[in-house]
Amino acid sequence: MGSSEIKNFGILGYPVGHSLSPQMYKAAFEAAGFVNYNYIPFSIQAGRLFMAVEAIKGLNFRGMNVTIPHKTTITGYLDAIDSDAMVIGAVNTVVNDGGMLTGYNTDVYGFLASLREANFLPEDSHAVILGAGGAARAILWGLCKKKAEFITIGARNPQKAQTLANDFLNYGNVEGFDWNSESFKEMIQTADIVINTTPLGMFPNVDDMPPIDLKLLPEGALVYDIIYNPSDTKLIKTAKELGFPTLNGLSMLLLQGKESYRLYTGEEPDMEVMAKTLERILSAR
Ligand code: NAP
Repeated sequence: MGSSEIKNFGILGYPVGHSLSPQMYKAAFEAAGFVNYNYIPFSIQAGRLFMAVEAIKGLNFRGMNVTIPHKTTITGYLDAIDSDAMVIGAVNTVVNDGGMLTGYNTDVYGFLASLREANFLPEDSHAVILGAGGAARAILWGLCKKKAEFITIGARNPQKAQTLANDFLNYGNVEGFDWNSESFKEMIQTADIVINTTPLGMFPNVDDMPPIDLKLLPEGALVYDIIYNPSDTKLIKTAKELGFPTLNGLSMLLLQGKESYRLYTGEEPDMEVMAKTLERILSAR
């Protein structure tokens, strides 16, 4: 526990100024007594990603988080990719072991751990995912790993929903739909969980929400919005008004951070410190 050794960490993204990671990790390092661990945000445009990855080795950074728009492209520049990140095709955490860079995707861990904390069992469930982007991919893989009985993807672009579903046909019963179609409306009537992975409702567009009629859901279905700013999106507020259990994106954010911290340091972070730090930053925004 604790050390005065110097180690450097950071996050690569574009833009990256909004990221909560620097403060979250710094607070956790400090609480653990890692007094000389530094965490720096790097705003890196797409064309400079390769050089940035080389710099992780050149400057001997121990670890690097990765965010939009680099999560997919970076997979081509690393020495090894963990099996979850390989299936998802995206990396959010890079660990440098003496010049050997390994990519991980801790969003899967964060998502599944958040379900555990909420006492939701994905095994044998019917899960509905709204959106078909990067986060949807990680969540879909998590649900396949846990053997969800059926997974329905609804998106504004039905082709993207179907392509994503086809990519995972070997791993589970997955089908993609236009979220405005009658067949999608029929599907959601047996959902055990609905997960919003689109940015609809995220600050500053807090009056937006995905076009889903929550009244069609069965009683007790969990409405999960992976957005964490605001903590109660319009989707979550509507679900609460209708009496559904809800979950926002803060626990997933926190738990993916916990797993990345463990990969970086081999230790468990102080989760209370990390949670309080995130809550403080978000309530000030
Ligand atoms: P992404 O790869 O860009 O995917 C976004 C998805 O949302 C796509 O399917 C996109 O559809 C759809 N979408 C975007 N704008 C839309 C709109 N106006 N109307 C309808 N659909 C729209 O982004 P991502 O990385 O998956 O992230 C998505 C959200 O998840 C963000 O809000 C992010 O902050 C959040 N997130 C949270 C966590 C957490 O730990 N809590 C982790 C990861 C991500 P098209 O393909 O048609 O554009």
